[in-house]
Amino acid sequence: MIKDMKWWGWGDPAFVFPLDEKPLLWPFIQKSLGLNAATRQTPPVDRASLRLPEPRTNAAFMQAVQGVLKPGQIAGDDEQRLIHTYGKSFPDLFRVRQGIVGNAPDVVLFPESHAEVEALVAAATRTGVKLVAFGGGTNIVGGVEHLDTAAMRVTLDMRRMSRVLEIDRDSWTATIEAGAPGPKLEDDLQALGFSLGHMPDSFEFATLGGWLATRSAGMQSDAYGKIEDMVVALKLVSPAGTLATKLTPKSSAGPDLDQIVVGSEGILGVITEAVMKVHPNPAVKDYHGVLFPDFESGSAAIHEVISRRAAPTMFRLQDADETQLAFSMKAPSAGLSGFIQSQVKKYLKARGYAQPCLMMVGFEGDAEYVAEMRRKVIPMVKKHRGFHLGNSVGKTWTKNKFAVPYLRDILMNHGCMVDVAETAAVWSKLLPLYHAARNVIKEQFKKEGYPGYIGCHISHSYVDGASLYFTFASQQLPGKELEQYYRFKRLITETFMRNGGTLSHHHSVGYEHRPWMEREVTRPGLEALRGLKHALDPHGVMNPGKLIPPADAKTTSAPTPAASIPVETP
Ligand SMILES: Cc1cc2nc3c(=O)[nH]c(=O)nc-3n(C[C@H](O)[C@H](O)[C@H](O)COP(=O)(O)OP(=O)(O)OC[C@H]3O[C@@H](n4cnc5c(N)ncnc54)[C@H](O)[C@@H]3O)c2cc1C
Repeated sequence: MIKDMKWWGWGDPAFVFPLDEKPLLWPFIQKSLGLNAATRQTPPVDRASLRLPEPRTNAAFMQAVQGVLKPGQIAGDDEQRLIHTYGKSFPDLFRVRQGIVGNAPDVVLFPESHAEVEALVAAATRTGVKLVAFGGGTNIVGGVEHLDTAAMRVTLDMRRMSRVLEIDRDSWTATIEAGAPGPKLEDDLQALGFSLGHMPDSFEFATLGGWLATRSAGMQSDAYGKIEDMVVALKLVSPAGTLATKLTPKSSAGPDLDQIVVGSEGILGVITEAVMKVHPNPAVKDYHGVLFPDFESGSAAIHEVISRRAAPTMFRLQDADETQLAFSMKAPSAGLSGFIQSQVKKYLKARGYAQPCLMMVGFEGDAEYVAEMRRKVIPMVKKHRGFHLGNSVGKTWTKNKFAVPYLRDILMNHGCMVDVAETAAVWSKLLPLYHAARNVIKEQFKKEGYPGYIGCHISHSYVDGASLYFTFASQQLPGKELEQYYRFKRLITETFMRNGGTLSHHHSVGYEHRPWMEREVTRPGLEALRGLKHALDPHGVMNPGKLIPPADAKTTSAPTPAASIPVETP
C-alpha cells in the first residue's frame, strides 16, 4: 500500500506536529523570527481552486504503455499529477501552496517489475517523451520536477517495486527493489533478522532508489556508511539498455560502475533493484545526550573518538542555537525532577555551559558490543568537557526524530521561509567553514533588517572530516519570497564553496545546485558526465535539466541560481 504525502507540505496527512505538548517552542520561534499576533497567516490555496495544466499526450507512447501496463498502473488524474509535481524544498512547497503547478507531469505510471520499466524506457526513447523517476518525492533540490517544456512529461512512480527479492544469509547481502520506502524495507528485512540501517530524517517516505540516486546519508552513517558504501551491485535501465553490475565484494575491473550510477539522479536511467550490504538486526540501541560548553569542544570530542577508531553508531552535535531550539521542544518538568533540572542548569551555567551544545551519541549492536563502546566513548567525550546527561535524552530524541520536519508546515502557514543547506569538509577546514557560513547568514539578516534564525549540527563524521547541516529561517518578504530564499541559498552555497566545503554532502544537485557543478568537479569532470549522459541517454529522455549544466551555460564563477530556476509567475 503506497502512502502519499500531503500535497502542500511534509509527510503523513494524518499527523499534526504536537505544538500543544511543547509550550516553550512557539514562544522561542516567535522571539527568534519576530512573529506576533499580527503576523500574516499564509495557508495553502484551497485545493478546489487549484488548476493543473491541460495534460499533453503522445499517442504512440500511450499506445505502447497500454500494451505494457494494466489500467490501474496508469494515473492521469489531477490528484496523482499534483502529488508528483514537486519534491519538498522550500521553493517546491512555496509554489505548490500558491497553486503554481505548471510543471505537473502529464501522466504518472506505476511499473511493477524490471521488465515493465525496460518496456517503458524503450517506448519513451522511441517516441520522444521525457521520463522522471520518482521514489518518495522527498528530495529538496528540484530532482523530480519536470523541466522540459515541449514533450509529454511522464513520471515513473517506483513504489510498487518494493520487495526484498533475496537474502543471502552467508554474505549478509539483500537484493531489494528500488521503490521500497524506508519503513517497508526495514520491516521486511527485520522480519528476516537483518537491517539496512539507513535512516535519513526523510526515512518515512524516501525509497532505496532515491537514496541511491542521490548518494543519501542516514543518521547512523558513522557505523553503516552512506548509501554508496552499502551497495554491492545494481540494475539500471537506461535508454541504451540495461546496465547490470556484477555481484562481487570488490573488483579492479576498471572504474566502479556502481559508483557511477549512484548519485546519477535519474539522468542516466532508472535503478530497478540493488544488492545491498545488510547486518543482523541490532539487539540493543542505546542513545545518550552529552552537553558541551561550546561547538569547538564537541567537535574536538567527535574528532578524537573517530580518529581512535572507537566508532559509535551515530554522533550528532548541535550548535548553541540549535540546542536552544531542541530544548524548547522539551515539555517543562514539574515537581522534583523540575527542581533537579533547574539545579543542574545552575551548576552548568556557573561552569561555563551558559550556551551549551547538545550531542547525541548512539550505540547499536549486541549488548556486549554496546557496553564496550559506551565504556570507551563516554570517558573520551568527557575529556573534552562533555557533561553526560544519560540515555533519557536519547530516548526522547529517538521518539521524536521523525516529527521535527512537520514543524515547517506550521511555520509556512505563518509566512515563514525555512530551509536547510548542508556540506562536508575536512577537519582542518570544518570550524572555519562553520563560522563563515553562520556569520554570512546572520549578517544578511542584519543587512535586510529583520530577525532570523540559523542553527547547525554536525550530522555525519569521518576520520578525515564531517558534514555540517544548517537550518535557516525568517519571515518571508511578501511578493519576493523566492528571490529572498535564493539570496540566502546562494550566499550559504558560495560560502561553502569558498571555504573548502562540498556542494552537497547528501542532498545531491538537482537543478538547485547545478550552477556550481563546474566549480565542484572541474570542466573536464563535467565533460566526463556529459559523455556518460550521451552514452546511456543520447536523446535526453531521462530527467532533463538535472545535475549537469547545459554546455552553453555561462561560466559558473558568478552563479545565478535564480536564473536557472523554472519559477512560473502565479
Ligand atoms: C524532511 C526531509 C529530511 C531529509 N533528510 C535527509 C537525510 O537525513 N539524509 C539524506 O540523504 N537526505 C535527506 N533528505 C533529502 C531526500 O530525502 C533524499 O534526497 C532522498 O534520498 C530522496 O529519496 P526519494 O526516494 O524521496 O527520491 P525522490 O525525491 O523521489 O528522487 C530524488 C532523485 O532521485 C531520482 N530517483 C528516484 N528514484 C530513482 C530510481 N529508482 N532510479 C533512478 N533515479 C531515481 C529522481 O529522479 C530524483 O532525481 C531529506 C528531505 C526532507 C524533505
